[in-house]
Amino acid sequence: MSTQAGLSWWESRYWQKVDVVVVGAGIVGLLSALRIREQKPHYRIVVTDRDPLALGASSRNAGFACFGSITELQEDIEDKGREAALDLAVRRFEGFQALRALCGDEAIGLNLCGSREVFLTSEEKKYREALEWLPELNKDLASTTGTPETFRKADTRRLGMNVLSDSLVNCCEGILETDMLLRRLRNLAAEQGIELYGGFDIEYHERDGKGLRIRSGRHEIETGLLLYCTNAFTPGFFPELPIVPARGQVFVSTPLSRPLPNEAFFYDRGYTYFRPLSGNRLLMGGFRNLDFHTEETYAMHTGGAVWEALLRFTSEVVLPAQEWKVDFAWAGTMAMGDERSPIVRSPESGVVVCARMSGMGVALSAKVSVEATELLMKQAY
Ligand SMILES: Cc1cc2nc3c(=O)[nH]c(=O)nc-3n(C[C@H](O)[C@H](O)[C@H](O)COP(=O)(O)OP(=O)(O)OC[C@H]3O[C@@H](n4cnc5c(N)ncnc54)[C@H](O)[C@@H]3O)c2cc1C
Repeated sequence: MSTQAGLSWWESRYWQKVDVVVVGAGIVGLLSALRIREQKPHYRIVVTDRDPLALGASSRNAGFACFGSITELQEDIEDKGREAALDLAVRRFEGFQALRALCGDEAIGLNLCGSREVFLTSEEKKYREALEWLPELNKDLASTTGTPETFRKADTRRLGMNVLSDSLVNCCEGILETDMLLRRLRNLAAEQGIELYGGFDIEYHERDGKGLRIRSGRHEIETGLLLYCTNAFTPGFFPELPIVPARGQVFVSTPLSRPLPNEAFFYDRGYTYFRPLSGNRLLMGGFRNLDFHTEETYAMHTGGAVWEALLRFTSEVVLPAQEWKVDFAWAGTMAMGDERSPIVRSPESGVVVCARMSGMGVALSAKVSVEATELLMKQAY
């Protein structure tokens, strides 16, 4: 008799003989499934998510393909040391290139416009300190980015913003269209015979003589290998992992009468970011650093001091001479911790976790998914 209450013979058989289940259909889950397929052409690979699309960060982010502004790298180096900070920046850059190679620039709407770090008029000292790091960082990153000038100084006076007249540009970053990236990855997965199922809220997994069983409502999937790509939600399965949620609040403006320049923008170590969108709109997000404690939440709505700061900064600094209103507002959930680097770990035989992508998973995911796949394949039967 079936242990799966109420399942038909056919339903029950449907979930047998799966080789790998990936939990989480965000960019990391989808990329990992594609990497597994490269190595195992005959595997039955199933990707599940609690949502028909994805519900965390991958469908709710800002679409920056970035590896670090100068003040962010400066802070990382001061906090974690030069080697660790640069290693992470290099992994992000390489991940970004791997993502491009896999997806194709056009299919994900990639715009290699570079990014600009702006400073307030009152922050000249901060700017000068950041500028001192420029030559050294250019030297450190030259062999990775392939250019001696990853960063350069740039004038801001034509931008129409209320910012310091000097700024720092990263020439090797860009922006993409988040919906196009997800669609591209899902289409590639489908082409590769990877099965994608939404509405699968995985409750737990357990082990028996046949392998692993994962449970969601009345369904139970039997699998040989299990990969958790559940990012901020991973502590629901592995409470011991040092991962905390971090809400990212974002809005899109009504169409602007004067379009933003074709560039990506950062302010204050990348905590605040803005960019143009099609239809002359502004996407604006960030300020989590104003209230880390309150933003350590799974809530997916906007509000509080961070939200007020976003609106104020937009009016006073980004669009000081324009009429605008909020048209779309949302929040997503990032995964943070003491370390900024991702967790790729096998907590038990046949099970791998790939999580904690921090605020730069777009660039990092293609790199980290390779590392997760390598670890999982070492445990293949
Ligand atoms: C507002 C915001 C802006 C951002 N902007 C950028 C940016 O511009 N550039 C950048 O590089 N990064 C950005 N990020 C970060 C980036 O989006 C993430 O690092 C990346 O998307 C993480 O991908 P992931 O697949 O690991 O996680 P997620 O996309 O969070 O995927 C995890 C998935 O697991 C699923 N899941 C959870 N629990 C279960 C369960 N029990 N059963 C089944 N499924 C489950 C969730 O539904 C979710 O779809 C931003 C994030 C936010 C929130």
